[in-house]
Amino acid sequence: MKMKIKSKRRFFLSLSILIIIAMAFNGKNLLNKVLTSDAIGNKSSNSTKENKFQGTPISISKEGTITFDQSEYFKKYIIKLVDKKQYSGYKEDDDYIYLDLKAVDKHKLNSNSFKEDDEKIFLSKIDGKTTMTIKKEFTQNNFVFLNELTNYLMVLISKKEEPFTHTVVVDPGHGGGDPGTEAYDKSFFEKEVTLKIALEMRPELIFYGKKVVMTRDKDLESDEYLERQRIVDIANENQGDAFVSVHIDAYDKSNIYNGISVYYAQSNSVPEESEAMALKIQEKILTSDNWNDRGIKFEDFKVIRLAQMPAVLVECGFASNPEDVKRLNDNNVLNNLAKNISAGIIAYLDGK
Ligand SMILES: [Zn+2]
Repeated sequence: MKMKIKSKRRFFLSLSILIIIAMAFNGKNLLNKVLTSDAIGNKSSNSTKENKFQGTPISISKEGTITFDQSEYFKKYIIKLVDKKQYSGYKEDDDYIYLDLKAVDKHKLNSNSFKEDDEKIFLSKIDGKTTMTIKKEFTQNNFVFLNELTNYLMVLISKKEEPFTHTVVVDPGHGGGDPGTEAYDKSFFEKEVTLKIALEMRPELIFYGKKVVMTRDKDLESDEYLERQRIVDIANENQGDAFVSVHIDAYDKSNIYNGISVYYAQSNSVPEESEAMALKIQEKILTSDNWNDRGIKFEDFKVIRLAQMPAVLVECGFASNPEDVKRLNDNNVLNNLAKNISAGIIAYLDGK
């Protein structure tokens, strides 16, 4: 009987100890939870604050595939891909951009751009996968673009809360059920080439602090196309500081004409400004690939006449001319056109 009481006591004593331990453990957990949520709360409310570096540094080499550049407005990480299929998208949160890249371990920082292991770009684990991770400075206005012409992946990290000084409206001519002109040898439709050029203008312009509004950023359905009035409305609704429409010229089936001209409209609301921008763009375009200079011209095309801002239409070569068509089938030439048209717009806007 006594024994039984003793063992009962022991049993209750052990039970109490167990309960106390369990309570202490729970309490600690609870405390941990509070601390964690506090930390998360702090993190999201101060997302632009420096966070402690987490992850593995990327090594540096002379042959490194990652280069770095910066303007007053953006940092630019350029990652050269062997094949664009290596890239399958990105994720982001308030603090980081996570690039989904195959063979991510093969990428190294180029020693011309990076002097030491840069803790703003590193490898981290996300969903159990090694991921290239880039630190943001501000939550908003960071961009990732795959340049389809060069297979370069470009990550633009904003250096300012408000990185944009101007808005540029870019109009890739034609699209959808309106293919535009066709190359004399049927190697392309105008709508395809204008889109390729316009898409690569976007990161160029953003890098120099220009917000970009595209009238389209993909081909449209075959039963769709953009009315000219709709293009004008997009430009005016977005209160652009510049409007640039990209086209390819053609002259019947004849190959006698070739080269580039930039058009402005004399009855536009700011014709002198439009002419000044046309001059800058024409000047920059002629710096590569030996294009024939057809000069700037005026013509009251509807889109540049009614856009209430400096507005030009660039005719990037002739689809009816074999020399020009050869150029327009070369991705490097298209990439140069994108860079040079953008450089002209930037020179005009920043030089005012
Ligand atoms: Zn056209």
